[in-house]
Amino acid sequence: MAVMTQTPDPKELITLLIPCYNEQEVIRACHDRVAAALIDLPYKFEIIYINDGSQDGTLELLRGIQVRDPRVRVINLSRNFGKEAAMTAGLDKATGDAVIILDADMQDPPELISELLKIWKAQNADVVYGQRLTRDGETWLKKKSAALFYAIINLVSSRVDIPRNTGDFRLMNRRAVNALESLREHHRFMKGLFAWVGYKQVPLYYHREPRLAGNTKWNYLKLIDLALEGITGFSMTPLRFATLLGVVIAFFSFLFGAVILFKTLLFGRDIPGYASLAVMVAFFSGVQLLSIGLLGEYIGRIFNETKNRPLYLIDEVLGDDKK
Ligand code: UDP
Ligand code: MG
Repeated sequence: MAVMTQTPDPKELITLLIPCYNEQEVIRACHDRVAAALIDLPYKFEIIYINDGSQDGTLELLRGIQVRDPRVRVINLSRNFGKEAAMTAGLDKATGDAVIILDADMQDPPELISELLKIWKAQNADVVYGQRLTRDGETWLKKKSAALFYAIINLVSSRVDIPRNTGDFRLMNRRAVNALESLREHHRFMKGLFAWVGYKQVPLYYHREPRLAGNTKWNYLKLIDLALEGITGFSMTPLRFATLLGVVIAFFSFLFGAVILFKTLLFGRDIPGYASLAVMVAFFSGVQLLSIGLLGEYIGRIFNETKNRPLYLIDEVLGDDKK
């Protein structure tokens, strides 16, 4: 019988992944707090910082951190590829038996690393994901739009259920990481990909803290873009909706046509009707443009996928490049 170990094996290696983009205000405090949180934990650790094309002093600070702490590796990407690609680069380079993803701004408290590890072992989970109970430091509008987004995406993507109020903060074991690594699509909506993998996923409830310093890298345009990625990447429902709309409109147009035909045959030609004609032309042009735009969203994504470019490019790796 296989022995289910409840006590951690001290030989196990845990990878911490920290994507950083223009984080010079927080990066030192981040490393100190992470290092402090790892003391006394019965695992070996490797800490991978991914510098996602920062234009400020982040890379220089990371160089200093890497020289002082042998557990640290720094992956410097050739430019800013976005957090989703940065995380992918880190996952590709991670060698741990489990991988934990953290934000550099300490919104996901590193003190919870021990909790993630405990739940992982106790419940024999493949994924332990952080689920936010509070979102301090976020505006009312951001909270409401996030709630609306989760409602829409879970309505239209029937197969994968994307947990609400969940970010990238999570622990994944080796098999979950390997599964994720096999998904090489370019339009990477990570929350969806994490959910797509499946396996045994267990939540860890926590309070999300406000950013330590510096500014969020998100704005509403980027968030709308991310929402579109999520919906088009995980659902064909919008296309079906266009088809359905077309069918319904065609049906009513046919009825309307029949009515006009009979009226003309019975009562003769009727000249007025300019207003209804104008309204109909405008309405149907709108519907057609909307449907074409919708098609365009999907076709544009097919175009990007077929180019099959690499997901990111690495400029250099500081520290022991194992993989
Ligand atoms: N980040 C990144 N590349 C980007 C944008 C952000 O690597 O293009 C990193 C950023 O440095 C931080 C994390 O992703 O560690 C979360 O970013 P942020 O705090 O701006 O997002 P929020 O917490 O507001 O959702
Ligand atoms: Mg943040």
